[in-house]
Parts: sequence; structure tokens; C-alpha cells
Amino acid sequence: MSRVILDQHQRPLRNLRLSVTDRCNLRCSYCMPEPEYVWLPREDILHFEEMEQLVDVFLDLGVDRIRLTGGEPLVRRDVPTLVAALAARPRITDLAMTTNGVLLAEQARALADAGLHRLTVSLDTLRPGRFRDLARADDLDKVLAGIAAAAPIFPGIKIDTVVIRGINDDELVDLVEFCRQYRAEVRFIEYMDVGGATHWSMDRVVPRAQILQELSRAYGAILPAAEPSSAPADRYRLPDGTIFGVISSTTQPFCSACDRSRLTADGLWYLCLYAQGGLDLRRALRGGASAAQLAGMIRATWHDRRDRGAEDRLTARDRVPLIPVDTLRRDPHLEMHTRGG
Ligand code: SAM
Ligand code: SF4
Ligand code: SF4
Repeated sequence: MSRVILDQHQRPLRNLRLSVTDRCNLRCSYCMPEPEYVWLPREDILHFEEMEQLVDVFLDLGVDRIRLTGGEPLVRRDVPTLVAALAARPRITDLAMTTNGVLLAEQARALADAGLHRLTVSLDTLRPGRFRDLARADDLDKVLAGIAAAAPIFPGIKIDTVVIRGINDDELVDLVEFCRQYRAEVRFIEYMDVGGATHWSMDRVVPRAQILQELSRAYGAILPAAEPSSAPADRYRLPDGTIFGVISSTTQPFCSACDRSRLTADGLWYLCLYAQGGLDLRRALRGGASAAQLAGMIRATWHDRRDRGAEDRLTARDRVPLIPVDTLRRDPHLEMHTRGG
């Protein structure tokens, strides 16, 4: 029987983002812009069985939504095996994955057969040269092939676009039109100053209001698609009924309703994208802690949770990137690509 646990702001623990690897086959400028990275030691990366053990503890504590992420989740070998194991747990009501799509064409069928419920693909541009500059790989064709392969298999597929001023903010309409052909829902994400976004600056952020203004100039009046949800995207409706989302994590954060936490590929549990430290569940697990002991650690940590990272950042004056490069090198857990977004 599952029980909901509440933090200090009465937020339940419901969502777990499970990073299956910190490795990635792209180098997006808003996530991994540096020439070199320090990786988590291979021997620290959790085996699938260990991830399942920890997931079971989280399920006992009320988590019912799991999103596989990374790094790039599809670079980890045999991910459909993990998906199948998780899909066999009926307490997981939502089993999703966020991927950059590069390896999706070859894996979409296997993921669906394994029981993955939902898929989100990150896509920031439709222009090959721009993709190369943004992601430092010539892989737009592969991503587009991945979306084409996955869209019929995963109805309601979502496309996430980080909007950056002067980089891709002239493609909003193109992306809406692209998604329409696949009946996919595009979500425009404000550029966040998370760890790893070492090139971030406030003048590069395109606020939600401006995204909406741009789209209403092209399409006419935009209305909210009202529905209660703890999901971060605010959904909107174009005059022809097309739905899209805007995730305004930087200018209008949604910390008050945040029910998510993150488990890194090496088993550290973080309560906020902006948190400086996490709980080492790998050490406890490999040290022989029982499920009840792990549950006790998780319950106590969530109970004390006060994090409102993005809201706190709003109060910072002269905002610069959150964490300097040399600090990131000393602790790769502070990186977005380790936390999983
Ligand atoms: N590699 C996969 C991908 O890109 O979809 C999954 C991991 S990635 C860290 C998860 C999400 O975080 C992606 O949609 C990415 O666009 C988003 N992200 C990374 N850095 C970001 C930033 N600085 N601001 C906003 N979103 C960011
Ligand atoms: Fe890009 Fe995702 Fe890789 Fe980060 S983890 S560099 S967002 S593909
Ligand atoms: Fe949740 Fe932290 Fe993001 Fe706020 S900043 S929504 S508390 S993860």
C-alpha cells in the first residue's frame, strides 16, 4: 500500500527522474558547452537491478511517475530491458523517457514493445547547419528520422525545444508546423541557468510572454488550454485547436507545485535541479541497507525538503551562470546532463 509523503511546502513525492547514464552523444550549447567533461566512474554506475531495487523503494513511498533520462538514455546499452522491468510494475502509472532522438529510429519499436508509455524528444532547430552549431554533431537527419519512426508508435509524443535568443527564437512557427504533421505537442522551454549552462545569460532567455506574443502574431489569439496538472508546461491552444506548451522555468517558476526528484546514474538522489548536494543511495544500497532502511532515509530527506531553486534564483541580482566551470569539474553531479533535467 503506497503512502504519500509531503515536504515542508506540502508537496508530495510523486515523480522520479531516473538518469540511466551521464554520457551523451551530443554537446548542446545550453547543457554541455565545454570542450571536456569529467564522467562518473563506470564502477559507480548502478546496474539495472540496483535501479529497480531503488525504484521499488520509491514506489512504496508514493512515486507513481518515472521518466528515464540522462545524459542520453539511449546510449546506455539494453535500455529496453530496464523499460520492460519497470513497465511490469503496475504502480507506475506513467513511464516516460526524454531523449535527444539520435538513436531513436533504431530503438523506438523496442521501447514501445518493452512497454514505455510516453516519449519526449528534444529538438531545438530544423536547420542542419544550426543543429551542428547548437549540438556539435551533424545529426539532425537522425533526430528527424527518429521522430518520424516514433510518432506513429507513441501517440501524443512531445517535442521539447529550448528557446535561446539569437539562436533559434526565429523558428517557433516552423517548429509548431513541424509538430503538427506528426500530431506531436511542442513545448518551448525557457533557457535555464542550471549547473552546466556555463554560457547562460539573462539576455539570452526568451520569456514566456514573448514566446506567446510571437506565436499570436503568426496565428491569432492564443487561449490557455486549462487543465489542472502539476506538470511544468502551461498549455495553450491556437485558433485551429493545435495545443502547445511553454515551460517558463526561468521567468515564472513552478516550484510551489514541484513533486519531482532526480536519481543520478550513480545513485545520488537530488531534490531540486538547483540543489548543491544529494543523498547517496548507492553507498547505502551497496553497503547492505534494507528496503526499509532506504525508505527511512528517503522519507526523512523528503520530509525536510524546502527547495525552491528556480524561485530563489529569481531573487539573485546580476545573475550569472549558477556554477563556475572549475566547480563543475570537481563535482559532475552539479551538471544538468548528470541530473537529467
Ligand atoms: N539527452 C536527453 C535530451 O536532451 O532530451 C535527455 C537529458 S537532457 C539533460 C533533458 C532536457 O533538459 C532536454 O530537453 C534539454 O533540452 C533540457 N535542458 C538541458 N539544459 C537546459 C537548460 N540550460 N535550460 C533548459 N533546458 C535544458
Ligand atoms: Fe543535449 Fe540532452 Fe546531451 Fe544535454 S544531455 S547535451 S540536452 S542531448
Ligand atoms: Fe522543483 Fe527545484 Fe525546479 Fe523548483 S527549481 S521546480 S523546486 S526542481
